Amino acid sequence: MQNLRTLISTAPMAPPFLIVAIDGGAAAGKSTTARALSARFNLLHVDTGSYYRAITAELLRLGVAVDDAVAISSTAASLTLGTRVDGRRARIEIAGREIEETELRGPAVNAAVSHFAAVPAVRAALLAYQRDQARIAREHGFAGLVMEGRDIGTAIFPDADFRFFLHADPEERARRRAAEGQQDSIAERDRIDSTRKASPLQCPPGATGLDSTHLSLDEVVTRVSAPIAARLGAAA
Ligand code: C5P
Repeated sequence: MQNLRTLISTAPMAPPFLIVAIDGGAAAGKSTTARALSARFNLLHVDTGSYYRAITAELLRLGVAVDDAVAISSTAASLTLGTRVDGRRARIEIAGREIEETELRGPAVNAAVSHFAAVPAVRAALLAYQRDQARIAREHGFAGLVMEGRDIGTAIFPDADFRFFLHADPEERARRRAAEGQQDSIAERDRIDSTRKASPLQCPPGATGLDSTHLSLDEVVTRVSAPIAARLGAAA
């Protein structure tokens, strides 16, 4: 018995499966931070903005108008969603088809996505799908997942191990988008995202807020990584 106790107490503990939630407005630095955390801690990177963008592209392709709530709801509920793991990144498939990145980031999707994302049936279509990404991460041998979006720490994974909320001044965020060569009215998207009734963009209660206006993205990554590294170090 004594030997068994000794064995158990000295056996290395399996590291915990980690869920990291990163929320914030457009161009707040979420994707760069999530990519860096994914690489450093072997986490599946889930960019939920790209999921809302894919559904938007599909609804536009099917001719659904942004103000036709009935058509949006019935069409969104009928979509068949799948996932392809591409390196460290999860990618959404709709009816077995993946939508090109250029289309996802193009002006038509930029202009429509917040309108579709405000419709409860669209959010409902993605709720279980997003939570199920944890199972996919486990199945692919990741140590956890890092999920970025607008409602991850409030609605999708309110019990995540780490919840961060990134912000930056609107001028700095507009500058970052322009530097990426993107035509995107981020202030208008933020306004719609923050004022909608269904899971609005807001800092989750108890989340760690970080203003990245005057920080380089490297500095943001360093600050966000520190508590995760400390937790993993403590578990090792
Ligand atoms: O992150 P990204 O800017 O690509 O997100 C595009 C849009 O998708 C957001 O402006 C928002 O309307 C919607 N979105 C959302 N909830 C999320 C992620 C994105 O409503 N969790």
